[in-house]
Order: sequence, then structure tokens, then C-alpha cells
Amino acid sequence: MHYQLICPACGLVFDDDGFRLACPRPHSPALLTTRYRSRMLECNRRATGMDRYQCWLPGTNRLAHAAQTVTYQSQHLSATLRLRNLWITFSGYWPERGATLETATFKELEVSGVLSRIPRYGFRALVVASAGNTAAAFARSCSENDIPCLILLPASGMATLCFAHRLRPCVKILCLTGGAAYSDAITLAERISQEDGFVGEGGVKNVGRRDGMATAMLNAVETIGRLPDYYVQAIGSGAGAIAAHEAAKRLVEDSRFGRTLPRLMLSQNAPFTPIYDAWRLGRRELVETDPDAARALTKKIVARVLSNQRPPYSIIGGVFDVLRESRGDMFAVDNDEAFEAMDLFERCEGIDIEPAAGVALAALRRALQSGQIGAEATVLLHITGGGVGKRASERTLFSAPPDLEISLEELGAGGALERACGLFAPHHGLIGLHRQPSSLRATAGQGDF
Ligand SMILES: [Zn+2]
Repeated sequence: MHYQLICPACGLVFDDDGFRLACPRPHSPALLTTRYRSRMLECNRRATGMDRYQCWLPGTNRLAHAAQTVTYQSQHLSATLRLRNLWITFSGYWPERGATLETATFKELEVSGVLSRIPRYGFRALVVASAGNTAAAFARSCSENDIPCLILLPASGMATLCFAHRLRPCVKILCLTGGAAYSDAITLAERISQEDGFVGEGGVKNVGRRDGMATAMLNAVETIGRLPDYYVQAIGSGAGAIAAHEAAKRLVEDSRFGRTLPRLMLSQNAPFTPIYDAWRLGRRELVETDPDAARALTKKIVARVLSNQRPPYSIIGGVFDVLRESRGDMFAVDNDEAFEAMDLFERCEGIDIEPAAGVALAALRRALQSGQIGAEATVLLHITGGGVGKRASERTLFSAPPDLEISLEELGAGGALERACGLFAPHHGLIGLHRQPSSLRATAGQGDF
């Protein structure tokens, strides 16, 4: 193996089994990280997209299409903001620029990282909870690569499930109705994952997800030639920001791209701002809130993908730690500011962006106006989703109807678990025992870089 897993809490180093999400030793929860044999970023120059960065990606499965994000130096937005060194990492659908994320968000980077790491046999289905974009990315990739996957999402996220090709039956969609929120999907997914043969994808705890997303930072640094002074992104769980920070630490260790960690300038969409609230109070713990009140707040924000009620903030290696280590800061941006920023970006750069990316740009404007970021700084703005409108106008898209609907009321009444598990016959997902999916092939793992 070209990497091992390491626990930041106790220092234990061990081999990966492709699914492991936590340290086997009993102690406070901590995010496992990867330790790669190569301490230098050795891009595979013959490869495109994420495959360029295999030296710092776990796993050895090659997927059908390598997700490709793009970084470029802004001209018009840069001039409008009077920010000389503004670089944009565009993780979306913009083929003319070289960004080919089919579902138009950076979630495709995460998913590729997860799928490249999983064993190719011995499970019934991968279980994923999502607010929408992650669901779309998993559905597309698992369908393309013939991997059995159960996707749970609230009804509010169903509109994001539009694809250029119809989904294969290995992917099942479970829609939670009756006012259910993302957190309800997470809770049910956790229960299903404990059933025989079902495997929780693990969200932020999955090193594949974070190292997959980290390729956005690797792409930026390969393009810019140095680490940026500031990294700007909107966060729901904060997994993208944690990933960017972990990549930056590796790049600092590499030493060719600068020795200072980019300061993380992160934002949430008011009035739902649990991470911002805790950070402002200087707390390591999130402020306790009533779940119903929190759910009501999530319905008021335009960037619904930022509505995680249980973000990995306090956990060792989580958002609090990366904000502190990077000397970063949090911003809260309301819907009007986000809409304004979305318009501004489209006018300047010529492509539509998602509300979460609007939140990030609005926070950047605030930081510039207050002088927190100076005009000479090298700034990396991560557009985590964009080109959704462009894609819809250019391509025929198929929506994916749910395979099963369960209401919030039914969730409480029981029986939901059996119905969900019943979507997969016990033999259905044993890929690799009798055959290997044609689109997954193992690589030697080392010879390529
Ligand atoms: Zn440990």
C-alpha cells in the first residue's frame, strides 16, 4: 500500500481495510488521516483530473471517469473586487474551462475518493445520507461503476437528482418526506449501516472523502505554483475546509509551495449558522439548540446544502481545530448577500454558481471591505458548485424518482428499517465474489507515480 491510516489522538498507525472510519483504540472521537509514503506532491502528468494526484489519494480502484476541477486566475471579478491575486477553483460543470463535474458540485471529488478506496466485494450496499448534492454525486458514480448504493435524502433534496443518463438499478433512492430534514436522513442511515451487509460511507470520517476533496487544493497549488494566503469556502459540515487544510499541511511539509498554511475564511448562511455561532463565542463545543428550532432555521436559508445540524466541529481534527491552526475566521451571510454575490459572479466570470458558492463570495467581499484580507493577498475562492443552469440548458436530463418514500411520522412508528433494507436482496450487492464490475479495475498502486 502507498499509504497508512494514522490517528491524530493517540498516534496509532495502521493499514486500511477500505471502510475503517475510526481508531480501534478507546478514546475521544478523532478524524483519522492518511499518511502517504510520498511526502512530495508527485503529479502524474500523463493523467487528467483527480488521477493526477493519486500519490495522495487512498485506494487503488480506478473509476470510469476521473472527476476534473479547474483553477484559473480571475480577471473581471478580480478587478471588480480590487483584489489583484484572486484565483478561482471551479468545482462544477464548465467543460469549456476544463471543469467536468457531471453533477456540477465538488461532491463528485469526495465520492471518487470514497469509491477508489472501498473493497470490491463482500457488502450488500453502501449507505449514504445527503442533503442533495452528495446524493447526486454518489448516485451518478455508483451507477456508472456498478456499485450497490442506498441513498437517503430529505424531499427538499430530490430536485438535485437529475442526470445525463438514467440510473442503473444498483442505486436505490430513499426519500424522507413529511418535513424530514438532513439530520433525519443521517440518523436512519446510521441505523441501516448497522445491519448485516450494509456499510456506512461515513461522511467526513471517511479519509477517502476528505482526500478526494483535497484534490481541489492540490489542483489550485499545482496551477498557482504556491499555497494561497487565504482559502475561501462556505461550509455545512466543514468537510471541504478540513480537507483543504489537511492538503495544505502536506504541501507545507513538501516545502516547495511555501511554508505558511492558508488562513481558512469560512462562511455559513444566516439565519442557520451553528459553526459561526460557536466560533464567535470561542467555544470548542457547538451551542445546544432544540432540533425542531434548528430544522425551522434550515428552511430559511437559500444555500440548503449548508444545513448540517451536526457538523464535525468539536471532534479532534475537526472544524474548530482547522480554524485555529490556520488562524482562520467564520462569517455569516444572509440570503440577499448570497444572491447578490451569485449575480456578481455570473456577470464577471460568465457562469452561474450555486447559492453556497454565493455565500463564500459574499464572505470574501465582507473580508475585503473590513480590511481583514488585504488587496495584495493571494486568495483562493473555491466555487464548490456551479454550471447547474448551464448544464440544464445544454443537456437533456433525467430525474430519478424515489424507490421508497418514508414520512417523518413513519420513521417514529418503526418498520422503516426493514423496508429500507428490503430494497436490496441479500445476494444483490455481493460484487466481486462472483464477478468484478467491469468499470473498476485494480491498479498496481505504485508504478503510476
Ligand atoms: Zn487513536
